[in-house]
Amino acid sequence: MNMKRFGVLVLVAVLVWTGAMGAAASETEADVIVVGAGGAGLTAAIEAALADADVIVLEKQAFAGGNTLISGGIWNAAGTWLQEEAGYSDSVPLHVGDTIVGGDYAAEPQLVGTMVEHGVQMTDWFVDELGYPREDLGLTVLGGHSVPRGVHPEDAGADIVSYLLERTEELGVDVHYHTEAVELMADGDGRVYQVRADREGEEVVYEASNGIVLATGGFGANVEMRVEHNPEFDEDYLTTNQPYITGEGITMAQEVGAAVRDMEMIQAFPMCDPETGDLNYPVSYARNQGAIIVNQEGQRYVEELERRDVIAQGTLEQTGGIGYVFWDTDIAEDELSAQAEDLMDRDLLHEADSIEEAAEFFDIPAEELVQTVAQYNEYVEQNEDPDFGRRDIDQVGAIDSAPFWIGAFAPSVHHTMGGVVIDSDARVLDENDEAIPGLFAAGEVTGGIHGTNRLGGNALLDCFVFGYIAGQNAAE
Ligand SMILES: Cc1cc2nc3c(=O)[nH]c(=O)nc-3n(C[C@H](O)[C@H](O)[C@H](O)COP(=O)(O)OP(=O)(O)OC[C@H]3O[C@@H](n4cnc5c(N)ncnc54)[C@H](O)[C@@H]3O)c2cc1C
Repeated sequence: MNMKRFGVLVLVAVLVWTGAMGAAASETEADVIVVGAGGAGLTAAIEAALADADVIVLEKQAFAGGNTLISGGIWNAAGTWLQEEAGYSDSVPLHVGDTIVGGDYAAEPQLVGTMVEHGVQMTDWFVDELGYPREDLGLTVLGGHSVPRGVHPEDAGADIVSYLLERTEELGVDVHYHTEAVELMADGDGRVYQVRADREGEEVVYEASNGIVLATGGFGANVEMRVEHNPEFDEDYLTTNQPYITGEGITMAQEVGAAVRDMEMIQAFPMCDPETGDLNYPVSYARNQGAIIVNQEGQRYVEELERRDVIAQGTLEQTGGIGYVFWDTDIAEDELSAQAEDLMDRDLLHEADSIEEAAEFFDIPAEELVQTVAQYNEYVEQNEDPDFGRRDIDQVGAIDSAPFWIGAFAPSVHHTMGGVVIDSDARVLDENDEAIPGLFAAGEVTGGIHGTNRLGGNALLDCFVFGYIAGQNAAE
């Protein structure tokens, strides 16, 4: 962990601690109750508080953040000043189109439109409402997007959570940690107004006079639930998720009549640590910057900027279900983080003086890798990749400057696209498409926004946008 990230995590811990101290145990009634203190929940809490609601957030862990905390912190926005400065032209229809195509036309177009239309607004919100320094935001491109539109704060998800938490603190939102929601309860008219929770072993019933926002995340770490909905994603798959992202919010919502959709749509992230399942940031970063992907035989087998599911599936079909990212010193630069050192210690990432040495480290036939790289460099020279149609071939450089880097990866479960059905107002719908009074949802607990395959950077946008809308509407 670099010192900056360590510093941010200390800040998060302090905010969590002070938040816990501030929450009076007897307080169980509020205008708005938010369940889950991740990106979507904290955004909803801030917006509800800004609309003058009293807000209590319930969080089952001792700290806030969920998957948002460990995320790459990138959200997409079409038409930002960052794109303008870098000379990229983008539009809402282009981003909507990428998302719909990327999800195999299975997403709900209205929800996609709502999400994408708010991209620039939420980026401004991050700066103007949360106080994030504008100059510390960067621009990047993720797989499946036509142009670079990924906005990222310097210290990824840790920055997002610390800025969200700081604002909730300022607004006087109470976050009750160690408080696990176990049941939603409706009154005789079907209005959801109470949450039964387990607070450090004690049953507590919370009551919301205006609305409840469910923001409990997905179910990527719940093997049983994964297999129930899609047997392919059994225990052989590791996960990038926090171990407590187990989907009970979805079940709770179903018990009060919520409809769910797309539950079988589960995404594996291709570039993960083959031993722990964690997202392998060094190789993932390198692939977006011009590295190549090869198999155990030293051959390319997929276009490097392909969709996640295509690379994941392609990798599973290779020898040992393993792929390797190979790059050179022009690309390596800034991502040699603590994670890279750990991967090197475990022989999953290697720095080599020659292509042959890189190959031999992972028992790849050296002459094959040398040949693959030579062929690829010719394609770079010609600005055309006849083998895989690499889309950025005219922007990347040849891989020819030592030291070289090679890192092993395997796919692991990353995102669950399915969840409770919502409308564009973040209202939870029942099987008849009727809104369930009092109940709102945002973030990975919901379904229908990403179709079969979520594009990188669209989940955090989803959290911000629907968290924002849910918070405002629940406060009404
Ligand atoms: C390693 C990694 C990297 C990623 N990088 C990116 C990225 O760069 N860009 C992008 O767009 N997406 C990324 N994603 C996906 C994205 O981070 C998640 O989809 C998003 O953070 C989910 O946010 P959320 O608020 O819905 O849930 P979470 O952030 O997971 O928060 C849910 C919270 O609810 C709490 N909770 C759950 N159940 C209960 C309960 N019963 N009672 C009380 N509390 C409960 C949890 O403890 C947790 O704190 C990444 C995901 C991972 C795992």
